[in-house]
Amino acid sequence: MTEAPPNRHDLFLALFPSEPTFRLDQIEKAYFTESMTGWDSVTTLSKDMREVLEKEIPWMSCTPVTTLSSAAGDTHKVVLSGIDEEMFESVLMINRRDQWTICVSSQIGCAMGCTFCATGMMGLKRSLSSDEIADQYRFWKQFLSERPELPQRISNVVFMGMGEPLVNVENVKKAIHTWLDHTDLGPTKVTVSTVGVLPVLEGILTDPDWPPVRIAISLHSPEEESRRKIVPTTAPNFHKRLAKWTHDYQEIHGNRRHHVTFEYTLISGVNDNEDEAKLLVKFVKTTSAVKVNVIPLNLVEGKDYTASSREGIEKFKAVLLNAGIDVTERKTMGRDIAAACGQLALTIKSGGKVVG
Ligand code: SAH
Ligand code: SF4
Repeated sequence: MTEAPPNRHDLFLALFPSEPTFRLDQIEKAYFTESMTGWDSVTTLSKDMREVLEKEIPWMSCTPVTTLSSAAGDTHKVVLSGIDEEMFESVLMINRRDQWTICVSSQIGCAMGCTFCATGMMGLKRSLSSDEIADQYRFWKQFLSERPELPQRISNVVFMGMGEPLVNVENVKKAIHTWLDHTDLGPTKVTVSTVGVLPVLEGILTDPDWPPVRIAISLHSPEEESRRKIVPTTAPNFHKRLAKWTHDYQEIHGNRRHHVTFEYTLISGVNDNEDEAKLLVKFVKTTSAVKVNVIPLNLVEGKDYTASSREGIEKFKAVLLNAGIDVTERKTMGRDIAAACGQLALTIKSGGKVVG
């Protein structure tokens, strides 16, 4: 069973089927009001209702099991336990503006099986409910409020934790709308990273409910056969269909703030030579994407892949830059607590400091 558990919203409607919909908005708002710490504090609801809710619906859909902080203090990771006690991870990272970015999970494990990713090695346990996704923000807000010496603002959310968000797209969408309605996050501050599930990407083009967030596509190879070796879910004609999709997307949602980014994890001897960089240039020029984000490989236990050398990374970037492509390199954070991209697999490494 890989379905997500029910949302609080559905549980509420099952308990109180004749309540007006504004009641749900009232409750949703309360979850994101810092002074509200439990059902007891939502005094806009009747006492009887609060008593039922206290027994039947958890105020938080997930509870912390362990929290780890990197030695540098710039990255924190939590293992959260869902309603059924299945566990998943969420990461808080400092960003360039000295504010925080949260890296949220959308599933427990992942069925996509990318060969260089620790989450992929776990297989898929289940999807997260929209509450379990949205509450990762609430958890980190609470974490920061207990540490007044730290910057307090969460300015960005990236779906780069465990799981493939587009395989759980309805819950991902609901969680994003919850944040847009009840926090100060704007849509361009949310990035959905996907391995590129083409039918779902195509569905987004005509979905009026899809929020105008940023999209990052994990490309990792400019060519279908070699991509399939590291991303086994690569569909036939992947690159051609993806290129078409980027143009359709640009036409429908197009402006620079909603540009598509390609992510490219550099693995030594696998996808990082100069010829591949040149092929990547050729491919990117067939798309509407304006940016490539290269990610130095983070090591994953049990895999003999190695990261590209510094020189190799610079050479690869130079080929793209010389061709006029905007290239950024992702700063690696939280390796000492296994919180970096692709390392989330519920292993608590001994480095770092357990803080909770
Ligand atoms: N499933 C989504 C989002 C989660 S993975 C996706 O694949 O995009 C988030 C990012 O981490 C992706 O770009 C992914 O390719 C990258 N990643 C996975 N394993 C990695 C590793 N070992 N080192 C560096 N990046 C990795
Ligand atoms: Fe899943 Fe993304 Fe990891 Fe691939 S890289 S296995 S899609 S989480």
